[in-house]
Amino acid sequence: MTDASKTNLLGLTKEGMETFFADMGAKAFHGRNVLKWIHKHGVADFDAMTDIPQKLRDTLKAQAEITPPRIVLAQPASDGTIKWVLELADGQHIETVYIPEEGRSTICVSSQVGCALDCSFCSTAQQGFNRNLSAAEIIGQVWLAAREIGHPPTNVVMMGMGEPLANFDNVVPAMDLMQEDLAYMISKARVTLSTSGVVPALRRLREVSDVSLAVSLHAPDNALRDQLVPINRKYPLEELIPACVDYVKHDRRRKITWEYVMLDGVNDSIAHAKALIRLLQGVPSKVNLIPFNPFPGTDYKTSPADRIDAFRWRLMRAGIITVTRKTRGDDIDAACGQLVGKVLDRSRRHLKKIPIVQEHRP
Ligand code: SAH
Repeated sequence: MTDASKTNLLGLTKEGMETFFADMGAKAFHGRNVLKWIHKHGVADFDAMTDIPQKLRDTLKAQAEITPPRIVLAQPASDGTIKWVLELADGQHIETVYIPEEGRSTICVSSQVGCALDCSFCSTAQQGFNRNLSAAEIIGQVWLAAREIGHPPTNVVMMGMGEPLANFDNVVPAMDLMQEDLAYMISKARVTLSTSGVVPALRRLREVSDVSLAVSLHAPDNALRDQLVPINRKYPLEELIPACVDYVKHDRRRKITWEYVMLDGVNDSIAHAKALIRLLQGVPSKVNLIPFNPFPGTDYKTSPADRIDAFRWRLMRAGIITVTRKTRGDDIDAACGQLVGKVLDRSRRHLKKIPIVQEHRP
């Protein structure tokens, strides 16, 4: 449980920690050491921080806490993916996914409880928007995952529940901590922010961060994108594409990853592929085709595999690097667009599908 009178140190960046310690009248280097204890060693108990003077530890105990979200459910999928359902201090639930692959371990992190953006093919959208996560709740997912898997992840993708750019002020410090040498030390190329295209926030991000950019494109023209990703009505392609180009243009090796969900009969024809090629002409691009992951109540269907292949080859022939994203963890509803924070909870009986594989006891 968090205590409102105490500062949760989990969400503080190096600079935030130094300021917090200075305000307590303590030396900044103690703040940096505490940061290391928390994120490098996974320690949440001040008494285990042996190089911090006892008196300072006592002051810390009175004024601060290190409180991550609580794992209420750990669901391993048959492919090694694990989905954790996390409970926040106010009783709300979010989901975090661990995706192991040869030589890398990726954590898919949520940025909001629910989402306000209402993309028609996404199940998180169906639950509506509850609130933003704090920086502590965002980095807390990485902290917990590192503890559970026994090492820091090699990659983080801000591709869980929520629109990260709609929670800019908390997402940016959390991403700083992912990259911080005294914390997880993940390079900027291995931290990826995925956005549906909140253009003004994307332009702001360029000023303060340099993480990899993935954009939920899903359609090659405004008419179709207006339907699938409604924020397109506010920030149409002619504003989105230049903002993305500006984001990567300082580094000629950088590319924008365009996410493109493959919806049967909606956006998956060769004509769509050709329109996409025209749209991305001259734009440093990688295209990530995501087979649609169905969820209860949706009318959309996944494109047949041969159509996804034909679409991919059309793009490849035009010189665009295109990969089909492997669906991971779909047997536990952990795949893209399936995260809704479902949990066994008597007050939420209406959520009927509760596939519990393994209860987690910390
Ligand atoms: N809100 C951010 C982060 C979500 S990332 C964004 O929109 O980019 C997850 C990716 O999965 C996004 O590209 C999203 O559009 C896509 N997605 C959502 N629902 C999906 C579904 N049911 N099947 C496949 N991909 C989906």
